[in-house]
Amino acid sequence: MNVSRRGWLKLAAGGTAGLALAELGLGPSEARAATKGLKLEGAKEFTTACNFCSCGCGMVAHVKDGQLVNLEGDPDHVINFGALCSKGAAMKATHDSPQRVRAPRYRAPGSDRWVEISWDEAYEKLAAKLKAVREATWTATEKDQDKDGKEVEYPVNRTDAIGLLGGAQHTNEECYVFNKMGRLFGTSFVEHQARL
Ligand code: SF4
Repeated sequence: MNVSRRGWLKLAAGGTAGLALAELGLGPSEARAATKGLKLEGAKEFTTACNFCSCGCGMVAHVKDGQLVNLEGDPDHVINFGALCSKGAAMKATHDSPQRVRAPRYRAPGSDRWVEISWDEAYEKLAAKLKAVREATWTATEKDQDKDGKEVEYPVNRTDAIGLLGGAQHTNEECYVFNKMGRLFGTSFVEHQARL
């Protein structure tokens, strides 16, 4: 599509780019393509992944003045080559939604409501709970029989009360660290959402 210099000046002066393009006699799809360029001007580009399902389709995000202004399929991503299903294509709406939960929430035992807490408070609570569960369920040794039928006791150092569940959006490096964290906690229950 070619837009003359005069046309671009008209766009700038008019303020409403779509309207001005329509006035120039361009169709809705051409107007959309042209205004998209203006919207992304000066925006920083990041790659990310759709967080809706285990396919983990690649996306390109554009951020301007700290605000997400565009989200679309990543044409270079090996899983989706730029395509998104209807859920992924509508993901920006969830980002913009006033109903989006933006801070941790806590419901105290016996309470019927959730209250917003700070991230520091949430981390404190999680760490304390994990430590308490780990200590209460720690198995240091197990007994078994050796090949001669003699009872033997050997170290296992684990808890069966903690499990970790990863997601399709985790990179290989994150999964590696995730597994390390599981071993530090003393659990071998490390699972991945995409296997369910
Ligand atoms: S775009 Fe659709 S298929 Fe791809 S990850 Fe998102 S929800 Fe799954």
